[in-house]
Formats: sequence, C-alpha cells, structure tokens
Amino acid sequence: MLGLMQDWPLTVDRILDHAARWHGDREVVSRSIEGPIVRTTYAAMEERAKRLSNALKALGVQVGDRVATLAWNSGRHMEAWYAAMGMGAVCHTLNPRLFADQLCYIIGHAEDKIIFSDLTFLPTLLANRDKMPSVKAFVVMTDAETMKGVDFPGALCFETLIEQSSPDFVWGGFDENLACGLCYTSGTTGNPKGVLYSHRSNFLHTLTTLQTDVMGLSARDTILPVVPMFHANAWGIAFSAPAVGAKLVMPGAKMDGASIHELLETEQVTFSAAVPTVWQMLLQHLQATGEKLTSLRRVVIGGSAVPEALMRSFRDDFGVEVTHAWGMTETSPLGTQATPNAAIAALPYEEQLKYRLKQGRAPLGVQLKLTDEAGQRLPHDGSTFGKLKVSGPFIVREYFKGDGGQILDEEGYFDTGDVATIDEMGFMQITDRAKDVIKSGGEWISSIEIENIACGHPKSAIAAVIGVFHPKWDERPLLLVKLKPGETATREEYLAFLDGKIAKWWMPDDVVFVDDIPLGATGKIDKKVIRQQFADYKLP
Ligand code: ADP
Repeated sequence: MLGLMQDWPLTVDRILDHAARWHGDREVVSRSIEGPIVRTTYAAMEERAKRLSNALKALGVQVGDRVATLAWNSGRHMEAWYAAMGMGAVCHTLNPRLFADQLCYIIGHAEDKIIFSDLTFLPTLLANRDKMPSVKAFVVMTDAETMKGVDFPGALCFETLIEQSSPDFVWGGFDENLACGLCYTSGTTGNPKGVLYSHRSNFLHTLTTLQTDVMGLSARDTILPVVPMFHANAWGIAFSAPAVGAKLVMPGAKMDGASIHELLETEQVTFSAAVPTVWQMLLQHLQATGEKLTSLRRVVIGGSAVPEALMRSFRDDFGVEVTHAWGMTETSPLGTQATPNAAIAALPYEEQLKYRLKQGRAPLGVQLKLTDEAGQRLPHDGSTFGKLKVSGPFIVREYFKGDGGQILDEEGYFDTGDVATIDEMGFMQITDRAKDVIKSGGEWISSIEIENIACGHPKSAIAAVIGVFHPKWDERPLLLVKLKPGETATREEYLAFLDGKIAKWWMPDDVVFVDDIPLGATGKIDKKVIRQQFADYKLP
C-alpha cells in the first residue's frame, strides 16, 4: 500500500521561490566585478532569474541542455543558476582556475550551449573561442554601460537580457530526478569527470546541511561563502541560505585576507565557509593588522584537513567556532562534519580537540564504511585504516556519460579514493588521499598529519609534505615550508618542533624552505605539482 501524501517534486526552484515569498526583502550583497558593493533581495533575484529563463528559452535552451557559468560568487551568478535550473536546464559550473585546455575539454564534454561569464574571464574565452564549437552565445555578466567596451561574436549583455525579457515564467513541473547541476572533478588523475546532480539530490543535500549538527543555518544568519560556487556548489550554500532566508554576502573576485575581513565586518557576517588556505590568509592578515572579528560566530572548514593551530587561533584569539567538515564533488559535497556528540561535548575543550580535528561523523543521508583492498569491512577502532566508501541519495552513482565505468561496489558504495579510520564514536579521520599517502618500508605515513603540525610552527605561513623516492624505504617524507614574510628558520628547528609530536619513523628526512607552495584549482595544496617539482630530489 502506498502512502497518501502529496506528490511534491523536490526541485530546487522551490528554494528560491520560498525565499522570495517568505524572506523577500532579505538581502544578497555582492562585491561586483566592476568594483562597487551591490545589493539585491531574494524577491528581486527570483524575478530577475525568471526573466533570464525567458531569455535562455529565446536563445533555444531546452530542458536538459547544459548552460555553463564561469563566474565568481555573486548575486548575478545565483540568478544565472536559478534561471537555468528552474527551467529544467543543467547549470554547469566551470572552475576558472583550470588551465584553458582543461576548460575547453570540459565545455566540449558537457556540450555547453551558453556560457555566462564574468568580465574577468573574457580574455580566456576569446583566446579559445574556436575550441568551443558547442557554445552558441556568451552572456557577459555586466551592465549595458560596461558592455559598450565588449564586442565579439556571440556576446550578449546580462542586464540587457534581463531588461528585455518578461518576468512571467513558470518554473518546475518536472520530475525531481531531472539533472540540474554539473560539476567536474579537478582531474588530479586523468581527464576531469562530470558529477551530475539532480534536483532531488540537491534538495535533500540542502535539508541535510541545514541540520543543527551540520551547518545549522538560520533566518538570523548572515552568510559569506568564500568557497566558490564552482567548488561543489559552494558546499550547497547557494541553496541552503535562501532555503532558510539567511542574508547572503558574496565576495566576488576578491578573496584576499583584507577584502574578506572588510566584508565580514561591514555586513556583520555570522557564518562563513572556505578551505583552510583561505582562513590562513585571513588570520595572517588579522595578526599583522591587529584587527578583530566582531560578528563572526562560526566557520565551516573543509576541502583539506584543518591544522590544529588554525582551529585554536579562531577560538582563542577571535571567539569563532570552527567546524571541520569533509566531502567531495561526488558527495554534493558534504559527507561528514566533526560536531561533538553528547559524550564529546561533556569533555574539557582540550580533550574535545582530538575529535574536532577529525573529519567527523555522518549526518542522516550519508552512510560510511571502511574496507580493505578486497572489500571486506574493517573495524571502527580509530586505528585500523582502510578505503573510505560512501553511499546515500546525494552521492554519485555514475559519472556523466559513463566515464570511469562502474564506480559502485556490490553494496552500492562509492570508493572516495581516501584512506581513513573511524573511531568508536563514529568519527572518521582522513589519513590521506590514497595517492598522497607516503609508503615507507611497507608502512603508511600520513602526510596530512605532519604538515598540519608543521603549519603550527609560529614561523610557518604554510607547509606541505610529500613522499620522495628512497632506495631502501621506497618513499620518505619531505617537508616543504613557506615561511611568513621576514622570517628565517633552519631544518633543525623544524625537526625539533616535530620531535615528540609524531612517531620517530615519521620524521621527515629533510626540510626545504620554499618561496611558494602551489595551490590547485580549488585552493588546496597541489601535491601533484609539488611531486613533479621534487621528482629528482636527493634526500641527504
Ligand atoms: P578536488 O580537491 O580534487 O577539486 P574535491 O573538492 O571533490 O575535489 O576534493 C575531495 C577530496 O578532498 C576528498 O576526497 C579528500 O581527499 C579531500 N578533502 C576534503 N575535505 C577534507 C578534509 N576536511 N580533510 C582532509 N581532506 C579533505
């Protein structure tokens, strides 16, 4: 017997519709690419997005067509998203930090018809125009005045399209399993692969992230997603903020410490989310200027492991609570978060830290397991590490166009490519990405753990650890450190700092001071590039 409740497809257009209806005057504030801070509301955003849906329809976009965006976080970017998704098209977020060749590959693979682009990226698009045969038009996300300086075949002005189109458009009315978003993995191995989100998966992911123990957002929050909308949907914030009627603050192209701090203060932001490297920049800015954070209460940090020093500084120096989260493009992206349970919350803060620094536990909607190479489940004892596998309604089943073939095991779990432990409390800890783990004499060394401790040295700006070839042990750890401006340090100083904090045999064989540590397209340390740079490095 089936239930007798209403058939109400879980489509994401309902999210902006809800925000416009019940939180219509709540603001969305953006640092525009043109320069000034601009303000809109959820009500205005819905109307403008519907006008854009009509414009897309007039350009020939149909249900299922891919409409790409190449843009920083802004109100306009959200309007383009909802315009495409609301009419049943698939919004494909392009990562502008990718190399042009990779971008062209992805655009071609997705068969994008339209690209919404910020002014910033026009030179790249123009230089590669002939490598994007599927693209019929480029919508330049600017006003008519600025557009006077832009003229190339297929270029259209965002604001003119809005002005000239009708606001009457009925969104939705389709199956909740229809595709609505497309995001490619960064392709650290082989070509990038497309993760195709459905309306239903994004809707359910939104409900999951809104739980108090996950992001716990509310109508009273002011949220600044530093994490870009092209990095796994800004971790869902472009959906979850309007879902609860929170005020949104979008940083545009400026994500340096001073610019982020300015917005946090002027807009009195209460909640934010970004990868650790962004927060390290902000904290270094605050330490250098002596400025404070007067409104920020909580930040979610994920994408790579949170160093202890970062979590402590946020709490002790600025009164901000850090929640560590883990996820990936394939998990929409939220997989786990390290919010204390009752037993952990009862511990003194120093003892809670051990758990808070792990990647955390699964919310309703995510199932985790650890297995060995043969797929046998491993115990949750906090020390046995194995392959981390996940399943749930917002976790990938298959990549776009079947790339990579069958990707689920016989129980329907997706192998994350991460190596992890799970403890008795259910807290998962990433040891490393399988490809980054250092294999020394048949044992594994966690590069993450060493680099996070090294990051805590007062002279470190950022640190990274990779495995380099060793004739006897196969691989040994090499520590790279970028020092804070004006600092000098010795190899011995760093080894002494690590001494006693990690096992003796984990001690890096060498420490190299570098001018820069390369970051990848999502702001994380790019170990592939570092490994290439140090491929011939001879350990002492
Ligand atoms: P990419 O970084 O390749 O662009 P993702 O953003 O999807 O793609 O990255 C997902 C990966 O990032 C995870 O599989 C994991 O290795 C790593 N990761 C994400 N969050 C964390 C975290 N909190 N701690 C450690 N590693 C993390």
